[in-house]
Amino acid sequence: MDLDSRYIEIEKNVKAVRARIESASQKVNRSSADVTLIAVTKTYPVSDAMILSQLGISNFGENRSSEGAAKAAEIQGTWHFQGQIQSNKIKQVLTWANSIHSVDDLRHISLIKKALPDDKNISIFLQVALDGQLHRGGVSEEILPLLAEEVLSSDGLMLEGLMAVAPLDHDPHRAFSELARIHSVFSQQFPMATNLSAGMSNDFEVAIEYGATHLRIGSSILGVRTSPL
Ligand SMILES: *Cc1c(COP(=O)(O)O)cnc(C)c1O
Repeated sequence: MDLDSRYIEIEKNVKAVRARIESASQKVNRSSADVTLIAVTKTYPVSDAMILSQLGISNFGENRSSEGAAKAAEIQGTWHFQGQIQSNKIKQVLTWANSIHSVDDLRHISLIKKALPDDKNISIFLQVALDGQLHRGGVSEEILPLLAEEVLSSDGLMLEGLMAVAPLDHDPHRAFSELARIHSVFSQQFPMATNLSAGMSNDFEVAIEYGATHLRIGSSILGVRTSPL
């Protein structure tokens, strides 16, 4: 596909997603201005991220450090790392990412703290596992305060809030209402942790209903990925 037709296709998808965010927000009396759309560009070329940037998208999500580094070098914006993070990649992630959505390990927090340059800040979302589905990443509710304390005691690490992925085989209403309850309890103890990263292509309208502030949307904008990431 040439770049002009790709531009037209992505523009159409972005408009449609923005309209759905708007109407889902209105439905629950929220302002769509409080909902950040993160365009997940993983597996797609830097030229797609460039088109998104031209369309006014300023938040981008990636799962692989080398891929994120290459795109972030070309495209200005806020870059979010959102996948399972490997210890040996943390240092590289910190060179390009502004935000890490999937922190679920005390040792990773220490490594981030150690590797973070003095003049840099990094936003941290703690990943919570819903319905005990630990294999998709995340910790159980009871562990969150321990991780949060570690983030708060580390210079340059900012505790943004919580992140979750809804289990594939469950009703997203059930998953996100559980997440909303966990976030409400958590933010009584950690009032700075106001943000909630939840909602992907298949369930972002439900996530908005339950208070999501950061949507991570890939395939609805760029198309279904052929590689399994
Ligand atoms: C790939 C991915 C997304 C985007 O998924 P889509 O279904 O394509 O919108 C969001 N969050 C995480 C953690 C992902 O790995």
